[in-house]
Amino acid sequence: MLTLEGKSVFNGITIGPVVLYKRTIHKVADQLVDDTETEVARFHTARLAAQNEIKSLYEKALTEVDEKTAEIFDVHQMMLDDPDYIETVENTIRTQKINAEYAVNAAADSFAEMFAAMEDTYMQERAADIRDISGKVLNALTGSNNMVTLTAPSIVAADDLAPSETLSLDKNNILAFITESGSTNSHTAILARTMGIPAIVGAGDTLLAHLHEKQTVIVDGFDGKIYIDPDVATLEAMTAKMNQDQKQKSLLAKLKGKPNATKSGRKIKLYANIGQPADLSAVLDNDAGGIGLFRSEFLYLGRDTFPSEEEQFTAYKTVLENMGGKEVVIRTLDIGADKKVGYFNLPAEENPALGYRAIRICLTRPEIFKTQLRAILRASAFGTALVMFPMITSVQEVRDAKMIVEEVKAELTTQKIDFDKNIKIGIMIETPAAAIISDDLAKFVDFFSIGSNDLTQYTLAIDRQNTSLDHFFDAHHPAILKLIAYTAENAHNNGIWCGICGELGADKTLAEEFINMGIDELSVSPASILPLREKILSID
Ligand code: PEP
Ligand code: MG
Repeated sequence: MLTLEGKSVFNGITIGPVVLYKRTIHKVADQLVDDTETEVARFHTARLAAQNEIKSLYEKALTEVDEKTAEIFDVHQMMLDDPDYIETVENTIRTQKINAEYAVNAAADSFAEMFAAMEDTYMQERAADIRDISGKVLNALTGSNNMVTLTAPSIVAADDLAPSETLSLDKNNILAFITESGSTNSHTAILARTMGIPAIVGAGDTLLAHLHEKQTVIVDGFDGKIYIDPDVATLEAMTAKMNQDQKQKSLLAKLKGKPNATKSGRKIKLYANIGQPADLSAVLDNDAGGIGLFRSEFLYLGRDTFPSEEEQFTAYKTVLENMGGKEVVIRTLDIGADKKVGYFNLPAEENPALGYRAIRICLTRPEIFKTQLRAILRASAFGTALVMFPMITSVQEVRDAKMIVEEVKAELTTQKIDFDKNIKIGIMIETPAAAIISDDLAKFVDFFSIGSNDLTQYTLAIDRQNTSLDHFFDAHHPAILKLIAYTAENAHNNGIWCGICGELGADKTLAEEFINMGIDELSVSPASILPLREKILSID
């Protein structure tokens, strides 16, 4: 067995035989010609044939996928009609007295290089599109085609796949896509996601060299892993994971669109926890009512420099726009403790979980905090954003943090930059201190969200990172449940709502108790939403 890793484009597991996608390699020779106008005419005939092919793909995309996907082929048609592209090919033929194939290939190279060198990642992706359309013109000129016919359900392996190649395949026979290169933002990746087909891109240059036709392969779109010739243990483990996934998907089909209500009609909001915009598809697939915890610090992790205001703004805006007006609770930076970032230059600490982290960093390094708040506030003009401060222990911290929000609001107003003037501000209740003074804190905020992970850690004095203490880490401890009930009561006495966004929120055995406590919202990982909805529907 060999295991390769790539970037997952769409979750799901599939096991099956592989088909290698072999395309015609156009060996384009330069041939001098006397009659350049005949070559120009050949180019235009081939270009029109390519146009017709793309038109059929447009229609196929419309009926088999969706309008957004069909637009890809609209763009391809426009590229083929682009006067610059046409002129470049014609000029090459005329000035160099060369054959049409050579001129088309040269134009494809120079346009693709130009796109690839652009800063904007969207434009970089267009390099693949220009190669795709030029490949079609070359096919028409040389009378070849790239069609691979799938006669049985198969995993399609390729060096890379153009959108048109992806769409030309018989959808009913595609189990998964695996490719050597490609990015998760490419049109092909978007297509795979929209078609709901597990796919892994960027598996490395050696992928095809390791494969032969009909070999058994497992594609694990959850972990981005490809198992070639899997051993029995892996086959068994992956089959179990696949069955679990299918169970989840059929549950989804049954429960999508249903309210989160008990039999007696008590409703509760079921929101999702995310760390980055890439998690959105899972949020939407699982029918979340909103996002109850966007762990914004993930935008700061795995990099060497601070994310700029613009980068953060784009991330928050993407999430807000995709949620189409539903609530999105953006938790401000919760860096420190287990989430260490080198470029913050945080001091080494004896007890990092009790140390310099989260709101403590934000209040003492306001330049970092303000950049984030500007990005969140600017994005708030594009949906329903709520701001939430982590690790609060005192009223003073809330007042200080809110004062900084007010400063940023004033700056934006002076600069005439739009934002939601009534943006709601809440706090996490994740320290015993916050739970105990929740009656006071409630007077300064619009909502509470209970972080049961840290609340358990700090209440029971158990390091949540220390696996040897797992046995003692009892989130059902009566002290935790009492603090949760007390916090909910104080929230309601002060007319604000109270949710839970720690792992405990997904615990089905506690759902009824939380509803009885009056908890208004549970924010859980996207995959936990539907099982929780099922549980809530069964409660009297
Ligand atoms: C929590 O502490 O429960 C929480 C939701 O925050 P995090 O797990 O990110 O610390
Ligand atoms: Mg926490």
